Formats: sequence, structure tokens, C-alpha cells
Amino acid sequence: QDVAERIAAGEVVERPASVVKELIENALDAGAHEIRIELRGAGLRMIRVIDDGYGILEGELEEACLHHTTSKISAFEDLDHLRTLGFRGEALASIAKVAEVTILSRAIETAGQEEEQPGHWITLRGGELIQRGRRARLPGTTVTVNDLFYNVPARLKFMRGARTENGHVLQLLQRYALGYPAIRFSLLVDERTLLQTSGSGELVLTLAELYRLPLTEMIEEIDVRDAEGHYHIYGALGNRVLAQSGRQYITLFVNGRWVQVRFLQEALERGYRTLLPRGKHPLLVLHLDVPPAEVDANVHPGKIEVRLAEEDKIVAALTQAVRSVLERSPA
Ligand code: ADP
Ligand code: MG
Repeated sequence: QDVAERIAAGEVVERPASVVKELIENALDAGAHEIRIELRGAGLRMIRVIDDGYGILEGELEEACLHHTTSKISAFEDLDHLRTLGFRGEALASIAKVAEVTILSRAIETAGQEEEQPGHWITLRGGELIQRGRRARLPGTTVTVNDLFYNVPARLKFMRGARTENGHVLQLLQRYALGYPAIRFSLLVDERTLLQTSGSGELVLTLAELYRLPLTEMIEEIDVRDAEGHYHIYGALGNRVLAQSGRQYITLFVNGRWVQVRFLQEALERGYRTLLPRGKHPLLVLHLDVPPAEVDANVHPGKIEVRLAEEDKIVAALTQAVRSVLERSPA
């Protein structure tokens, strides 16, 4: 197998958490209600993601693991109307090049069929198909990634300890749980449950579940739209008691995509103004939904850039929305 190909794959797949991210996004794109993640050996021995989404048809399974195959975009103009998280069609193929990947799936279309083994699976190692078979499964998909980076020793050397790699996955899961409160997430690391959400659909409840917070007194809900119904700002704002010393508890989504963008964080913090002690940062989760054509979300591996049309207007609206909610709150 071509070294250049493996290096290219390494750009998408930097560490176990990047594999988990891609697999979660595929599960979300497939309309899953429940997503379960299991890790062993810091994700290098095994990563498994189980979803109850619409699955992959038998005839499309192999195709889905080849480079640049996506079922999510048909024409270039579609990019402006993109609602799915994936569209480049390279994640599965890239992961399969640097690991042993087994995908077991059953498409929702077969739900009524009375076959004995209505699921199908394939195993790829180093990008090559090595085995396939059938197995019973409810509709949905299970992706198991074993021996990550077995053929990229240079990448293995850059892996940090299990605590660090597991920590990256946990942080990632917290973000997705907050981004998709209607989805039940669980994370099992070496047989221990590190995270579990109920999928209630309530952001405030999810926040409380993740950080084990008392519900009502410390969190304010926010839900604001502009007069033209152009953008929608909603989420949950921690009060001053929950002030943090770093910015890692500011979780921000633009059109459902997690972003870490300084000018947006600062706009939110200006909304808190005098409410927080000097040098302290809020704990909050905020969604900003704008028409897709107004966001330029160029997401490179390891780098997040977001540009918004009418940026000044939106920044001012964010600050104002946060301020008005906090001024109403009793604390
Ligand atoms: P992309 O997400 O950019 O389309 P991927 O390589 O991540 O590319 O996935 C390739 C294709 O495999 C997807 O377009 C989708 O059709 C299918 N696929 C992958 N994972 C799942 C899943 N969990 N459920 C249903 N389909 C999936
Ligand atoms: Mg994808």
C-alpha cells in the first residue's frame, strides 16, 4: 500500500478521538437516536460505535469504505444547502487504511423482512477487503476499529498516555451530547461508563447530567430569534456560581457544528460583563443557527474557522441576548 496514501489518511485520522468524531458524525447523519461508544486500550486496541440509524444497504457497504464515496452530496451546488455533517466521503476510507475495520450494518429498508440473518458485515485491513459475512442485527450500524495505526508506527509514537487519549474522547462526547440533547449517548472506556445522557431533548437537563449540577438555580435558558426570523440563538447559561478559570466550558455550535471561535466566545463573555469575577469565564452551551449560505465553515483537520455574513450584527445580537437573559435572572 502506498505510503503517500497512508500519510494522507493520517491527516484525517490524527488520534483515536478523531476516529470517534468521524464515526459519531456518520451515526448522526444516519438519523440515530442512540449512539454508544466503547473504547479499549485508549482506542488503539479497539473503538466501537454502535448506532440505531438507517443503516447501509448490503450493495453499498463496500463502496462506502472506498475513497471519496459519499451518499450525501450529488452536485457541487449542494454545498450551499448542506445539512449533514459529512460530505467529503473520505473518513471511512481513511480510517480503514490505518486500522482493521469491521462494519456490520442493517438498513432500515429491510426492517420488515423475515430473513434469518438480516445484517451484513465486511472487514478491511490496511484498506483491503479481507472478509465478509452475514449476521443478525436490528437496523443500524456497528463500526469496530481494531489496531489503529498498526501500519503507521510514526503516528503511534505521537500517542500520549491512555489518560490523555481517553480524555480527548470524553471531551468530544460531552460536546456532542450538548449539541444533540435528543440523542442518548454513552461512553464506555475499558468497561467503565464515563458518560451517559438520557436523550431527553432538554439542553439544561443534559448539561446537568454531564456536569452533575443542580438543575434550576444555576442555569438560565436562552432562546432568541431576530425579527426577520433569520437567526436563532438558544442554549443554557450557567450563572456566576459556575464561573470557571478557563474557556473550556464554553460550548458553542454554529448550525449544529461545534466550533471554537474566539470572536464568538468574546461576544458571549461581553454579555456576562460585570457578572463574573475578573479572569473568570462562564459555563454555557449556546447554539447559533443561521441560514447555511451565510456560514463559511471551513473545517480543516485540527483547525476550525467560521466566517459569518453580517458578522457584526450577529456578534452584537449574541452579546445582547446573553445580557438580557442574565439581567432577568435572580442570581
Ligand atoms: P461522508 O460522511 O463524508 O459521506 P464517510 O466516509 O464518513 O463519508 O462515510 C461514507 C458513506 O458511508 C456515507 O456517505 C454513508 O452513506 C455511509 N455511512 C457511514 N457510516 C454510516 C452509518 N453509521 N450509518 C449509515 N450510513 C453510514
Ligand atoms: Mg462521515
